[in-house]
Amino acid sequence: MRVATLYKNQTHPSISFEFFPPRDEKAEVEFTTVVDQLATLAPDYMSMTFGAGGSTSEGSYQAVKMMKQEKKLPTVAYLAGFGLSPDSITTVLDRYKALGIETIFVLRGDEPRGSDFVPHPDSFSYASDILKFISDRYDFDLGCAGYPEAHVQAESLEKDIEYLKLKQDNGAQYVVVQYFYDNDFFYTYVDKCRAAGVTVPIIPGIMPIYTAKLTNMLCKLCGSTLPQGIKKQLDNTKNAKEAAALGMDVAFEQCKDLLAHGVDGLHFYTMDRVPSVTRIVQRLREEKLIK
Ligand SMILES: Cc1cc2nc3c(=O)[nH]c(=O)nc-3n(C[C@H](O)[C@H](O)[C@H](O)COP(=O)(O)OP(=O)(O)OC[C@H]3O[C@@H](n4cnc5c(N)ncnc54)[C@H](O)[C@@H]3O)c2cc1C
Repeated sequence: MRVATLYKNQTHPSISFEFFPPRDEKAEVEFTTVVDQLATLAPDYMSMTFGAGGSTSEGSYQAVKMMKQEKKLPTVAYLAGFGLSPDSITTVLDRYKALGIETIFVLRGDEPRGSDFVPHPDSFSYASDILKFISDRYDFDLGCAGYPEAHVQAESLEKDIEYLKLKQDNGAQYVVVQYFYDNDFFYTYVDKCRAAGVTVPIIPGIMPIYTAKLTNMLCKLCGSTLPQGIKKQLDNTKNAKEAAALGMDVAFEQCKDLLAHGVDGLHFYTMDRVPSVTRIVQRLREEKLIK
């Protein structure tokens, strides 16, 4: 699965699902069921995250192996290079290449929290450096992350976009962005990226609201704004079921508007959960908004 090629040749907006690797053996069994169930929606590709500092290196590899080799699914592997030596990055990539993986989504990642992890002295500072290292040595299609509301550590949105352009110059062929709940952030961001010379596809990331607690926590962590109107509705939900139902409606309307604006694809952060993404995709199909 070559994702840059997919976005180049597609005739309709694609859909993709992102997962994180199961934490233990019990979760592994559940995860396989999640993958099987979401695979019935026939997404254009599924992607597997990677814990920075190599914290999930083996778990991510095993999950990618299951998805790609056992299930024969179109699979994208992530690499978060924070703290890793160039040799460790090569080892990870060689293993993915041997599985037949053709697209790597490249991230810097963040320092693992609450650990005594010591970054390798030769590790890379930014995703753009990792992209250069990979594109000089491998034939993968490469993707990278973007941030419509600016990365939490960014000097400014403009500077962040400058560095996004550098990621493109160093080999990134598509961008998937951090989730947002107000589409205007995305539209303004795309306009600014285009003005700054970013020409590759920019794919919106969709994070359905799953629970109020998770949404509030993640929005703070990722710098995504929860608009007052949605926040009020979420505060009024009585339980997780009501919150998830609200989340499905919000995400459906969000996707509908994004599709009306001609996006190249919708990338869903599944959080390894089945019902919300399933219902959103089904509704988009029922209304003939996606294939
Ligand atoms: C779609 C998506 C998927 C993700 N998947 C994962 C995952 O699998 N594993 C994981 O650990 N994390 C993941 N993340 C989170 C990501 O790793 C963090 O947001 C991380 O803090 C930044 O990674 P990056 O690749 O965007 O970094 P970079 O592009 O390197 O940017 C990091 C910061 O440095 C600044 N910067 C960039 N280049 C320069 C430069 N040359 N000079 C000065 N400043 C610069 C930027 O403005 C930004 O503030 C994901 C994020 C997204 C949006």
